[in-house]
Amino acid sequence: VIELRDVRKTYPGPVEVLHGIDLTIERDEQVAILGPSGSGKSTLLNLIGILDRPTSGTLVVNGQDTAALTDRRLAGLRAAAIGFVFQQFFLLDYRTALDNVADGLLYTATPLRERRRRAAEVLDRVGLGDRLGHRPAQLSGGERQRVAIARALVGRPALVLADEPTGALDTANGVAVLKLLSELHDDGTTLIVITHDPSVAAAMDREVHIRDGRIHPEPT
Ligand code: ATP
Ligand code: MG
Repeated sequence: VIELRDVRKTYPGPVEVLHGIDLTIERDEQVAILGPSGSGKSTLLNLIGILDRPTSGTLVVNGQDTAALTDRRLAGLRAAAIGFVFQQFFLLDYRTALDNVADGLLYTATPLRERRRRAAEVLDRVGLGDRLGHRPAQLSGGERQRVAIARALVGRPALVLADEPTGALDTANGVAVLKLLSELHDDGTTLIVITHDPSVAAAMDREVHIRDGRIHPEPT
């Protein structure tokens, strides 16, 4: 469960970007976050992903009040419970698809052999079982994003966060990536996707609309 109560975020300037967000997301939910550029979507996702702390307000991630945790405990929670997918993939160029995915387990106590075995399994699930030895430059954009999704999934996180995962892809690849993401639902994973793409949003359980750092009721 994720819960935000009166969450605010101010960047140095100072500029307040989030003006009091109240939001509850249940386990198993698939939520799309929509809103204009600059409205605070990525800022919100970075808070939920505990890449950053709120300036004020309450943030509960995976049932834990983040204010009560040290940076070290937060990093542990992030590594154990959260998988990230970004628009720009962020794969390591000199690592194979297999090793990029196996790296998703780097901060767990999993031995290398087991990391690679699980990486191969997940790559197979995203349809790249025959691309294990390819480096990112040898893969198409859609394939790279599937590698990034496999990396996000390999640790079996309770929560998957995706910031414009289809933004750098053409429609066909975007649809394939979306399908993979929504299949996660069967595993009891919570999925939060930032998107400008109405067809991506429509495939989720719920839409959250942000404008100027505030949540707006869904347009009817
Ligand atoms: P987009 O759709 O373009 O990705 P967004 O909704 O994700 O936009 P954010 O990235 O959350 O928007 O940014 C919201 C506002 O906060 C913007 O005005 C941005 O300039 C500002 N901002 C974001 N990150 C920082 C930062 N690290 N320091 C200062 N200001 C920032
Ligand atoms: Mg953004």
